[in-house]
Amino acid sequence: MRRQVFVNGRIFTGKSEEDFVTALSLVDGTVDWIGDEKKLSPASRSIAYDLGGRTVLPGFLDMHVHPTLMAALTDDVEVLPEQIRSIDALVETLRTHRALGLSSDDWITGSGYDETRFVDGASPVAADLDRVSVEQPVMIWRADRHSSVCNTRALEIAGITAQTPDPPGARFERDAEGNPNGILTEREATQAVSIAIPQRSLEERVRQLRAIGKRLLSKGIVGVCDMMATAMSSPLEAYRRAYSRGPFPRSGLFYGWDPDEPLADLREDERDGSARVAGVKVLMDGTYTNRTAWVCDPYPDSCDQGMRTITDEDLRSAADWARRNRVQLAVHAMGDKAINHVVDILGGRDPWLSSRPSVRIEHATIMAPDLVARLVSSPMSFGIATHSIFLFAEYEAYAKNLRPGLMPDAYPLRRLYGEIEPLALSSDCPATSWGDADNPFVSIQAAVTRRAHTGADIGFASALTVSQAILLYTARAAELTEIDGLGQLAPGRRGSFIVLDRDVFSIPSDEISQICIDETWVDGNLVHHRE
Ligand SMILES: [Zn+2]
Ligand SMILES: [Zn+2]
Repeated sequence: MRRQVFVNGRIFTGKSEEDFVTALSLVDGTVDWIGDEKKLSPASRSIAYDLGGRTVLPGFLDMHVHPTLMAALTDDVEVLPEQIRSIDALVETLRTHRALGLSSDDWITGSGYDETRFVDGASPVAADLDRVSVEQPVMIWRADRHSSVCNTRALEIAGITAQTPDPPGARFERDAEGNPNGILTEREATQAVSIAIPQRSLEERVRQLRAIGKRLLSKGIVGVCDMMATAMSSPLEAYRRAYSRGPFPRSGLFYGWDPDEPLADLREDERDGSARVAGVKVLMDGTYTNRTAWVCDPYPDSCDQGMRTITDEDLRSAADWARRNRVQLAVHAMGDKAINHVVDILGGRDPWLSSRPSVRIEHATIMAPDLVARLVSSPMSFGIATHSIFLFAEYEAYAKNLRPGLMPDAYPLRRLYGEIEPLALSSDCPATSWGDADNPFVSIQAAVTRRAHTGADIGFASALTVSQAILLYTARAAELTEIDGLGQLAPGRRGSFIVLDRDVFSIPSDEISQICIDETWVDGNLVHHRE
């Protein structure tokens, strides 16, 4: 038996908004006691680790993140809007890709552009990327990871011509003559090209995943939901290997639903363990920044209401699969029309899981009070993974695409906090235009200050307190999808917690994102220590 005692901390347990203790003890990595250190015996105190008065939180849970995409990004050059504000700058940066000049099979890839931040606001097209290379395929992902642009060579490899019909729920954008111009709007169109990019070997994928796991632990994240694990082949195998080789966040994997290739039913062992299949994911609509989110009222200065990206039949099939396999259904739905439609189709059904919501809504950008009430009063059990990072990082695009007066209903965290119990704040990293998006303190600061990176007000009436925002990254997040034994510090829970370099509860709120993680402990083991 291994007994550990930690004293002299300002330990936020996650049990409520105001529950603090000064000491905790672990037996074999599991919390067996929390409380006032004065109650400890002299023997316990003699073996204690002194936290030095520092603030301790339960380890963070990032319930909507894409470690497999983060792993794949290792091969891309970063073209985030902070650096790239024009097509010329984009082309120049892509020309630094290490594959440039290699063989005609080597892809040149980039991630994170946002044309709404370009000086003229126009999207790059194939002809622009042909300036990077005409011999090699070039492909870049938009910051939202839904849409992309490729060059002429990549269109050729994918076999996309003027005669190719648009895939369902997506578009190959075209020029005046009907020829594809390289812009691939929404996932099915993007995948029609990205499928041709050679996959790394399993061993390389495991190595890339382990690097991402290390990065997440250094940011205090001890549990994740990978919301599109099938972006990598054999994801469960890769995760389990990554986990078996040393410290790695516990992981719930969500598989993408592909109507053309129905998922096999899960084996019992796939639902269990440190890396397990937690659900299946579908996309009801596109993204707000690209005006492809499916909205009730048209976008400003247009009659455009965005788009739906899945049929009712496929949505029902995915729900049936989740029910049969006793896992969650996660539905990407940003626009209010999309969210309402999910409730139309699934709200009247009986939930199939008892301890967690059967259906997760991902993002939930526009949530007016009546829509929140609809979700809560439905027979179906719904939970939400939402964000403060989008309004913070992509403020310019939201300012253009939100109808006037809609800001109070955009990511209304205070309203959701009060009404929806299974609720998480999450990063969606790397599907947002912020390099450090996976740092939970960026999201916590944005939730507390409701200020964008530009300083603009993003709805102060929706601000949370620091404790509330932390709960949405810990205890309340654990209500959304179970990541076994994490989210709170209480007897019987895992001894997984983080030690901060300064006190998040008392520093000025605009300094929260500067907080560093001094130590990350997982099951009583120190897995990250700040140099
Ligand atoms: Zn999404
Ligand atoms: Zn996502």
